[in-house]
Amino acid sequence: MKNFNLETLCVQAGYSPKTGESRIPQICQSTTFYFGDTQAMADCFDLKSDSYFYSRLANPTVTALEGKVAALEGGKAAIGCASGMSASMLTAFTLCEAGDNIVSSSTIYGGTYNLFGTTLPKLGIECRFFNPDAPAEEIEALIDEKTKFIFGETIANPSIVVFDFDKVSSIAKRHGLLFIVDNTLATPALCQPFRFGANIIIHSTSKYMDGHAAALGGMIVDGGNFDFKGNPRYPAFNLPDESYHGLVYADLAAPFATKCRAQMIRDLGAIMSPQNAFLTYLGSDTLALRMERHSANAAKIAAFLASHPKIAWVKHPSLSSDPYHALAQKYLPNGQGGMMSFGIRGDVHICAKFMEALRLITQETHVADVRSCVLHPASTTHRQLSKEDLEKAGVPENLVRLSVGIENADDLITDLAQALEHV
Ligand SMILES: *Cc1c(COP(=O)(O)O)cnc(C)c1O
Repeated sequence: MKNFNLETLCVQAGYSPKTGESRIPQICQSTTFYFGDTQAMADCFDLKSDSYFYSRLANPTVTALEGKVAALEGGKAAIGCASGMSASMLTAFTLCEAGDNIVSSSTIYGGTYNLFGTTLPKLGIECRFFNPDAPAEEIEALIDEKTKFIFGETIANPSIVVFDFDKVSSIAKRHGLLFIVDNTLATPALCQPFRFGANIIIHSTSKYMDGHAAALGGMIVDGGNFDFKGNPRYPAFNLPDESYHGLVYADLAAPFATKCRAQMIRDLGAIMSPQNAFLTYLGSDTLALRMERHSANAAKIAAFLASHPKIAWVKHPSLSSDPYHALAQKYLPNGQGGMMSFGIRGDVHICAKFMEALRLITQETHVADVRSCVLHPASTTHRQLSKEDLEKAGVPENLVRLSVGIENADDLITDLAQALEHV
Protein backbone atom coordinates (compact mmCIF):
# COMPACT_ATOMS: atom_id res chain seq x y z
CA MET A 1 0.00 0.00 0.00
CA LYS A 2 3.02 2.24 0.59
CA ASN A 3 3.31 3.79 -2.86
CA PHE A 4 -0.32 4.77 -3.34
CA ASN A 5 -1.67 8.29 -3.03
CA LEU A 6 -3.90 9.41 -0.21
CA GLU A 7 -7.22 9.14 -2.11
CA THR A 8 -6.42 5.47 -2.83
CA LEU A 9 -5.29 4.73 0.73
CA CYS A 10 -8.55 6.19 2.09
CA VAL A 11 -10.55 3.41 0.47
CA GLN A 12 -8.00 0.58 0.27
CA ALA A 13 -5.66 0.68 3.26
CA GLY A 14 -6.00 -1.14 6.57
CA TYR A 15 -7.90 -4.22 5.46
CA SER A 16 -7.58 -6.63 2.55
CA PRO A 17 -9.78 -9.73 2.58
CA LYS A 18 -8.83 -13.21 1.44
CA THR A 19 -11.07 -15.21 -0.90
CA GLY A 20 -14.60 -15.48 0.46
CA GLU A 21 -14.07 -13.01 3.31
CA SER A 22 -16.20 -9.88 3.74
CA ARG A 23 -15.16 -6.96 1.52
CA ILE A 24 -15.24 -4.45 4.37
CA PRO A 25 -14.06 -5.18 7.93
CA GLN A 26 -16.57 -7.04 10.06
CA ILE A 27 -17.56 -5.75 13.47
CA CYS A 28 -15.80 -8.24 15.73
CA GLN A 29 -17.64 -7.85 19.05
CA SER A 30 -15.84 -10.74 20.76
CA THR A 31 -13.95 -9.71 23.89
CA THR A 32 -11.82 -12.84 23.76
CA PHE A 33 -10.23 -15.25 21.27
CA TYR A 34 -9.87 -19.03 21.09
CA PHE A 35 -6.56 -20.82 21.72
CA GLY A 36 -5.91 -24.50 20.97
CA ASP A 37 -2.71 -24.81 23.01
CA THR A 38 -0.93 -23.26 25.97
CA GLN A 39 2.28 -22.31 24.15
CA ALA A 40 0.46 -20.17 21.54
CA MET A 41 -1.18 -18.21 24.33
CA ALA A 42 2.07 -17.90 26.32
CA ASP A 43 3.71 -16.38 23.20
CA CYS A 44 1.04 -13.65 23.19
CA PHE A 45 1.84 -12.70 26.77
CA ASP A 46 5.55 -12.55 25.86
CA LEU A 47 4.79 -10.25 22.87
CA LYS A 48 6.30 -12.97 20.61
CA SER A 49 3.05 -13.49 18.70
CA ASP A 50 0.70 -10.87 17.27
CA SER A 51 -2.33 -13.17 17.47
CA TYR A 52 -5.45 -11.63 19.03
CA PHE A 53 -6.16 -12.77 22.55
CA TYR A 54 -8.14 -10.09 24.39
CA SER A 55 -9.94 -7.08 22.84
CA ARG A 56 -8.56 -4.57 25.32
CA LEU A 57 -5.11 -5.19 23.79
CA ALA A 58 -6.10 -5.67 20.14
CA ASN A 59 -9.23 -6.35 18.11
CA PRO A 60 -9.50 -7.10 14.35
CA THR A 61 -12.00 -4.29 13.58
CA VAL A 62 -9.87 -1.74 15.45
CA THR A 63 -6.75 -3.11 13.71
CA ALA A 64 -8.30 -2.30 10.31
CA LEU A 65 -8.79 1.35 11.23
CA GLU A 66 -5.35 1.54 12.89
CA GLY A 67 -3.78 0.24 9.69
CA LYS A 68 -5.64 2.76 7.58
CA VAL A 69 -4.75 5.80 9.70
CA ALA A 70 -1.10 4.67 9.98
CA ALA A 71 -0.99 4.41 6.16
CA LEU A 72 -2.64 7.82 5.67
CA GLU A 73 -0.11 9.49 7.98
CA GLY A 74 2.84 7.47 6.69
CA GLY A 75 3.50 6.02 10.18
CA LYS A 76 4.81 2.66 11.41
CA ALA A 77 2.00 1.70 13.82
CA ALA A 78 -1.20 3.14 15.30
CA ILE A 79 -3.33 2.62 18.39
CA GLY A 80 -7.10 3.17 18.45
CA CYS A 81 -8.29 4.92 21.62
CA ALA A 82 -11.68 5.59 23.21
CA SER A 83 -11.53 9.32 22.39
CA GLY A 84 -9.12 12.04 21.34
CA MET A 85 -8.61 12.89 25.01
CA SER A 86 -7.64 9.32 25.89
CA ALA A 87 -5.12 9.39 23.00
CA SER A 88 -3.44 12.44 24.60
CA MET A 89 -3.62 10.93 28.08
CA LEU A 90 -2.11 7.59 27.00
CA THR A 91 0.64 9.40 25.07
CA ALA A 92 1.61 11.49 28.11
CA PHE A 93 1.62 8.45 30.42
CA THR A 94 3.74 6.41 28.00
CA LEU A 95 6.45 9.07 28.24
CA CYS A 96 6.17 10.85 31.58
CA GLU A 97 6.32 10.11 35.27
CA ALA A 98 6.26 12.36 38.34
CA GLY A 99 9.07 14.92 38.09
CA ASP A 100 8.98 15.09 34.28
CA ASN A 101 7.64 17.97 32.19
CA ILE A 102 5.97 18.73 28.84
CA VAL A 103 6.54 21.81 26.66
CA SER A 104 3.34 22.68 24.77
CA SER A 105 1.88 25.38 22.57
CA SER A 106 -0.69 27.37 24.56
CA THR A 107 -3.15 27.49 21.63
CA ILE A 108 -4.42 23.93 21.84
CA TYR A 109 -7.80 22.28 22.27
CA GLY A 110 -9.41 23.22 25.63
CA GLY A 111 -9.61 19.62 26.85
CA THR A 112 -5.91 19.03 26.15
CA TYR A 113 -5.05 22.36 27.80
CA ASN A 114 -6.83 21.19 30.97
CA LEU A 115 -5.20 17.74 30.85
CA PHE A 116 -1.71 19.25 30.52
CA GLY A 117 -2.25 22.32 32.71
CA THR A 118 -4.45 20.98 35.54
CA THR A 119 -4.75 17.20 35.65
CA LEU A 120 -1.18 16.06 34.89
CA PRO A 121 0.32 18.50 37.47
CA LYS A 122 -1.74 16.69 40.17
CA LEU A 123 0.34 13.62 39.30
CA GLY A 124 3.62 15.51 39.42
CA ILE A 125 3.93 16.12 35.65
CA GLU A 126 4.42 19.80 34.84
CA CYS A 127 3.43 21.55 31.62
CA ARG A 128 5.25 24.64 30.34
CA PHE A 129 3.15 26.49 27.77
CA PHE A 130 4.60 28.66 25.00
CA ASN A 131 3.04 31.22 22.69
CA PRO A 132 3.28 29.60 19.21
CA ASP A 133 4.32 32.99 17.76
CA ALA A 134 7.27 33.26 20.19
CA PRO A 135 10.81 33.14 18.80
CA ALA A 136 12.67 29.80 18.93
CA GLU A 137 14.99 30.90 21.79
CA GLU A 138 12.03 31.61 24.04
CA ILE A 139 10.55 28.15 23.42
CA GLU A 140 13.93 26.48 23.75
CA ALA A 141 14.48 28.09 27.18
CA LEU A 142 11.57 26.00 28.56
CA ILE A 143 13.34 22.69 27.82
CA ASP A 144 15.44 20.89 30.42
CA GLU A 145 16.69 17.31 30.93
CA LYS A 146 13.30 16.30 32.39
CA THR A 147 11.32 17.44 29.31
CA LYS A 148 9.77 14.43 27.59
CA PHE A 149 8.00 15.95 24.58
CA ILE A 150 7.11 19.16 22.76
CA PHE A 151 3.51 19.51 21.58
CA GLY A 152 1.31 21.52 19.19
CA GLU A 153 -1.72 21.32 16.89
CA THR A 154 -1.41 21.58 13.08
CA ILE A 155 -4.51 23.82 12.99
CA ALA A 156 -5.34 24.88 16.53
CA ASN A 157 -8.88 24.44 17.82
CA PRO A 158 -10.46 27.01 18.18
CA SER A 159 -7.84 29.74 17.55
CA ILE A 160 -7.08 28.55 13.94
CA VAL A 161 -3.34 29.14 14.45
CA VAL A 162 -1.28 27.21 11.87
CA PHE A 163 1.67 25.50 13.55
CA ASP A 164 5.23 26.47 12.58
CA PHE A 165 6.63 22.96 12.08
CA ASP A 166 10.15 23.95 10.99
CA LYS A 167 10.69 26.21 13.99
CA VAL A 168 9.61 23.59 16.52
CA SER A 169 11.03 20.48 14.84
CA SER A 170 14.51 22.02 14.68
CA ILE A 171 14.33 22.77 18.42
CA ALA A 172 13.20 19.18 19.11
CA LYS A 173 16.04 17.77 16.99
CA ARG A 174 18.68 19.90 18.73
CA HIS A 175 17.56 18.49 22.09
CA GLY A 176 16.91 14.85 21.09
CA LEU A 177 13.31 15.51 22.11
CA LEU A 178 10.12 13.86 20.81
CA PHE A 179 7.90 16.18 18.75
CA ILE A 180 4.18 15.35 19.02
CA VAL A 181 1.42 16.87 16.89
CA ASP A 182 -2.37 16.80 17.19
CA ASN A 183 -3.43 16.61 13.53
CA THR A 184 -7.21 16.41 14.15
CA LEU A 185 -8.35 19.51 12.28
CA ALA A 186 -5.98 19.22 9.31
CA THR A 187 -6.17 15.42 8.88
CA PRO A 188 -3.57 13.65 6.70
CA ALA A 189 -5.60 14.77 3.67
CA LEU A 190 -4.33 18.35 4.19
CA CYS A 191 -1.09 17.86 6.14
CA GLN A 192 1.15 14.92 7.01
CA PRO A 193 3.18 16.07 10.03
CA PHE A 194 5.76 13.22 9.78
CA ARG A 195 7.01 14.97 6.62
CA PHE A 196 7.70 18.07 8.74
CA GLY A 197 9.59 16.47 11.61
CA ALA A 198 6.82 15.13 13.90
CA ASN A 199 7.54 11.80 15.63
CA ILE A 200 4.08 10.97 16.98
CA ILE A 201 0.67 12.12 15.74
CA ILE A 202 -2.53 12.22 17.77
CA HIS A 203 -6.07 12.39 16.41
CA SER A 204 -9.52 12.87 17.73
CA THR A 205 -11.21 10.64 15.13
CA SER A 206 -14.52 12.02 16.45
CA LYS A 207 -14.05 14.95 14.04
CA TYR A 208 -13.19 14.85 10.30
CA MET A 209 -11.77 11.30 10.37
CA ASP A 210 -15.25 9.87 11.02
CA GLY A 211 -16.87 12.95 9.52
CA HIS A 212 -20.45 12.01 10.32
CA ALA A 213 -20.62 12.79 14.05
CA ALA A 214 -21.40 9.10 14.53
CA ALA A 215 -18.50 7.78 16.64
CA LEU A 216 -16.16 9.06 19.34
CA GLY A 217 -12.59 7.91 19.01
CA GLY A 218 -8.91 8.73 19.10
CA MET A 219 -5.75 7.52 17.41
CA ILE A 220 -2.05 7.59 18.27
CA VAL A 221 0.29 7.13 15.29
CA ASP A 222 3.97 6.27 15.79
CA GLY A 223 6.22 7.57 13.01
CA GLY A 224 8.94 5.06 13.94
CA ASN A 225 11.31 7.92 13.07
CA PHE A 226 12.78 8.70 16.49
CA ASP A 227 15.97 7.12 17.80
CA PHE A 228 15.44 6.24 21.46
CA LYS A 229 18.55 4.04 21.55
CA GLY A 230 21.02 5.42 24.09
CA ASN A 231 19.13 8.75 24.41
CA PRO A 232 19.60 9.74 28.09
CA ARG A 233 16.27 11.58 28.04
CA TYR A 234 14.38 8.27 27.74
CA PRO A 235 15.75 5.73 30.25
CA ALA A 236 12.41 3.85 30.28
CA PHE A 237 12.97 2.97 26.60
CA ASN A 238 16.55 1.83 27.16
CA LEU A 239 16.21 -0.22 30.34
CA PRO A 240 14.70 -3.73 30.39
CA ASP A 241 10.95 -3.82 31.13
CA GLU A 242 10.71 -6.40 33.91
CA SER A 243 6.96 -6.80 33.28
CA TYR A 244 7.95 -8.13 29.81
CA HIS A 245 10.89 -10.40 30.66
CA GLY A 246 13.50 -7.75 30.08
CA LEU A 247 12.22 -6.37 26.76
CA VAL A 248 14.07 -3.17 25.72
CA TYR A 249 11.66 -0.97 23.75
CA ALA A 250 14.41 1.07 22.03
CA ASP A 251 15.42 -2.09 20.12
CA LEU A 252 12.01 -2.45 18.42
CA ALA A 253 10.70 -1.03 15.10
CA ALA A 254 7.99 1.10 16.76
CA PRO A 255 9.22 1.58 20.34
CA PHE A 256 6.63 4.19 21.32
CA ALA A 257 3.56 2.30 20.05
CA THR A 258 4.78 -0.98 21.54
CA LYS A 259 5.39 0.55 24.97
CA CYS A 260 2.07 2.41 24.83
CA ARG A 261 0.11 -0.74 24.03
CA ALA A 262 2.07 -3.17 26.21
CA GLN A 263 2.06 -0.98 29.32
CA MET A 264 -0.50 1.81 29.13
CA ILE A 265 -3.33 0.12 27.22
CA ARG A 266 -2.79 -2.89 29.47
CA ASP A 267 -2.94 -0.80 32.67
CA LEU A 268 -5.33 2.04 31.76
CA GLY A 269 -7.64 0.59 29.08
CA ALA A 270 -9.40 3.47 27.25
CA ILE A 271 -9.34 1.66 23.89
CA MET A 272 -11.59 2.21 20.87
CA SER A 273 -14.66 -0.04 20.64
CA PRO A 274 -15.06 -2.30 17.57
CA GLN A 275 -18.39 -0.61 16.72
CA ASN A 276 -16.79 2.85 16.71
CA ALA A 277 -13.80 1.57 14.73
CA PHE A 278 -16.21 0.19 12.10
CA LEU A 279 -18.14 3.47 11.78
CA THR A 280 -14.93 5.49 11.62
CA TYR A 281 -13.47 3.11 9.04
CA LEU A 282 -16.51 3.69 6.79
CA GLY A 283 -16.46 7.44 7.38
CA SER A 284 -12.77 7.73 6.56
CA ASP A 285 -13.34 6.20 3.10
CA THR A 286 -14.44 9.66 1.92
CA LEU A 287 -11.92 11.73 3.94
CA ALA A 288 -9.97 13.02 0.93
CA LEU A 289 -13.12 14.08 -0.93
CA ARG A 290 -14.68 15.70 2.11
CA MET A 291 -11.61 17.73 3.07
CA GLU A 292 -11.51 19.22 -0.44
CA ARG A 293 -15.12 20.36 -0.09
CA HIS A 294 -14.78 21.56 3.53
CA SER A 295 -11.77 23.65 2.49
CA ALA A 296 -13.33 25.07 -0.68
CA ASN A 297 -16.58 25.97 1.10
CA ALA A 298 -14.73 27.62 3.98
CA ALA A 299 -12.52 29.67 1.64
CA LYS A 300 -15.60 30.93 -0.24
CA ILE A 301 -17.46 31.77 2.98
CA ALA A 302 -14.39 33.47 4.50
CA ALA A 303 -14.15 35.72 1.44
CA PHE A 304 -17.87 36.54 1.67
CA LEU A 305 -17.70 37.40 5.39
CA ALA A 306 -14.48 39.41 5.02
CA SER A 307 -16.25 41.78 2.62
CA HIS A 308 -19.48 42.07 4.67
CA PRO A 309 -20.04 45.48 6.36
CA LYS A 310 -21.47 43.92 9.57
CA ILE A 311 -18.40 41.70 10.09
CA ALA A 312 -15.47 43.19 12.03
CA TRP A 313 -12.88 40.48 11.31
CA VAL A 314 -12.53 36.92 9.90
CA LYS A 315 -9.95 34.26 10.76
CA HIS A 316 -9.30 31.59 8.13
CA PRO A 317 -5.85 30.79 6.75
CA SER A 318 -7.18 30.90 3.14
CA LEU A 319 -7.43 34.72 3.39
CA SER A 320 -4.29 36.53 2.27
CA SER A 321 -4.85 38.97 5.17
CA ASP A 322 -4.73 36.13 7.73
CA PRO A 323 -1.59 36.16 9.95
CA TYR A 324 -1.13 32.41 9.31
CA HIS A 325 -1.64 32.57 5.53
CA ALA A 326 2.09 32.14 4.78
CA LEU A 327 2.43 29.14 7.11
CA ALA A 328 -0.71 27.65 5.56
CA GLN A 329 0.77 28.00 2.06
CA LYS A 330 3.78 26.05 3.27
CA TYR A 331 2.08 23.31 5.31
CA LEU A 332 -1.54 23.26 4.03
CA PRO A 333 -1.21 24.07 0.31
CA ASN A 334 -4.15 21.88 -0.76
CA GLY A 335 -6.77 23.37 1.54
CA GLN A 336 -7.02 24.88 5.00
CA GLY A 337 -10.00 22.96 6.38
CA GLY A 338 -13.48 24.01 7.41
CA MET A 339 -12.86 25.69 10.77
CA MET A 340 -13.07 29.48 11.00
CA SER A 341 -14.04 32.21 13.39
CA PHE A 342 -15.32 35.72 12.83
CA GLY A 343 -16.38 38.75 14.82
CA ILE A 344 -19.74 40.48 14.39
CA ARG A 345 -19.85 44.27 14.82
CA GLY A 346 -21.80 44.32 18.09
CA ASP A 347 -22.05 42.92 21.61
CA VAL A 348 -23.15 39.58 23.13
CA HIS A 349 -26.85 40.34 22.54
CA ILE A 350 -26.37 41.16 18.88
CA CYS A 351 -24.38 37.95 18.41
CA ALA A 352 -27.16 35.93 20.09
CA LYS A 353 -29.69 37.51 17.72
CA PHE A 354 -27.54 36.45 14.75
CA MET A 355 -27.22 32.88 16.06
CA GLU A 356 -30.98 32.56 16.54
CA ALA A 357 -31.67 33.87 13.05
CA LEU A 358 -29.65 31.12 11.34
CA ARG A 359 -31.91 28.51 9.75
CA LEU A 360 -29.64 25.99 8.02
CA ILE A 361 -26.51 26.28 10.17
CA THR A 362 -27.23 24.89 13.65
CA GLN A 363 -25.80 25.62 17.11
CA GLU A 364 -23.66 22.76 18.43
CA THR A 365 -20.62 22.21 20.62
CA HIS A 366 -19.24 19.71 18.08
CA VAL A 367 -17.07 20.69 15.10
CA ALA A 368 -15.68 19.12 11.94
CA ASP A 369 -18.43 16.93 10.60
CA VAL A 370 -20.38 17.07 7.33
CA ARG A 371 -23.04 19.50 8.66
CA SER A 372 -22.23 23.17 9.24
CA CYS A 373 -22.53 24.38 12.81
CA VAL A 374 -21.79 27.46 14.89
CA LEU A 375 -20.97 28.23 18.48
CA HIS A 376 -20.93 31.57 20.31
CA PRO A 377 -18.48 30.98 23.20
CA ALA A 378 -19.34 34.19 25.10
CA SER A 379 -22.95 33.08 25.61
CA THR A 380 -22.27 29.31 25.97
CA THR A 381 -18.93 27.58 26.75
CA HIS A 382 -17.32 30.77 28.15
CA ARG A 383 -20.42 32.44 29.64
CA GLN A 384 -18.94 32.61 33.17
CA LEU A 385 -16.16 34.93 32.01
CA SER A 386 -16.27 38.72 32.20
CA LYS A 387 -15.77 40.83 29.08
CA GLU A 388 -12.14 41.49 30.10
CA ASP A 389 -11.42 37.80 30.81
CA LEU A 390 -12.93 36.86 27.45
CA GLU A 391 -10.46 39.21 25.73
CA LYS A 392 -7.57 37.69 27.70
CA ALA A 393 -8.63 34.15 26.73
CA GLY A 394 -8.55 35.18 23.06
CA VAL A 395 -12.32 34.80 22.68
CA PRO A 396 -13.78 38.31 22.44
CA GLU A 397 -17.52 38.60 23.13
CA ASN A 398 -18.30 39.03 19.42
CA LEU A 399 -16.45 35.84 18.32
CA VAL A 400 -18.50 33.24 16.45
CA ARG A 401 -16.89 29.88 15.67
CA LEU A 402 -18.09 28.33 12.42
CA SER A 403 -17.40 24.75 11.36
CA VAL A 404 -18.16 24.69 7.65
CA GLY A 405 -19.74 21.46 6.38
CA ILE A 406 -20.01 19.97 2.91
CA GLU A 407 -23.36 21.51 1.97
CA ASN A 408 -23.59 23.77 -1.08
CA ALA A 409 -21.52 26.89 -0.29
CA ASP A 410 -24.10 29.27 -1.78
CA ASP A 411 -26.84 27.85 0.47
CA LEU A 412 -24.60 28.48 3.49
CA ILE A 413 -23.81 32.03 2.34
CA THR A 414 -27.53 32.72 1.81
CA ASP A 415 -28.21 31.58 5.38
CA LEU A 416 -25.41 33.72 6.85
CA ALA A 417 -26.52 36.75 4.80
CA GLN A 418 -30.16 36.55 5.96
CA ALA A 419 -29.10 36.09 9.59
CA LEU A 420 -26.82 39.16 9.35
CA GLU A 421 -29.88 41.20 8.26
CA HIS A 422 -31.20 40.70 11.82
CA VAL A 423 -28.24 42.41 13.49
C1 LIG B 1 -12.07 17.35 19.84
C2 LIG B 1 -10.62 17.46 19.91
C3 LIG B 1 -9.88 16.68 20.83
C4 LIG B 1 -10.53 15.75 21.83
O1 LIG B 1 -11.15 14.70 21.18
P1 LIG B 1 -12.40 13.88 21.78
O2 LIG B 1 -12.58 12.80 20.77
O3 LIG B 1 -13.55 14.81 21.89
O4 LIG B 1 -11.96 13.34 23.11
C5 LIG B 1 -8.50 16.81 20.81
N1 LIG B 1 -7.88 17.65 19.97
C6 LIG B 1 -8.56 18.41 19.08
C7 LIG B 1 -7.82 19.32 18.16
C8 LIG B 1 -9.96 18.35 19.02
O5 LIG B 1 -10.62 19.11 18.15
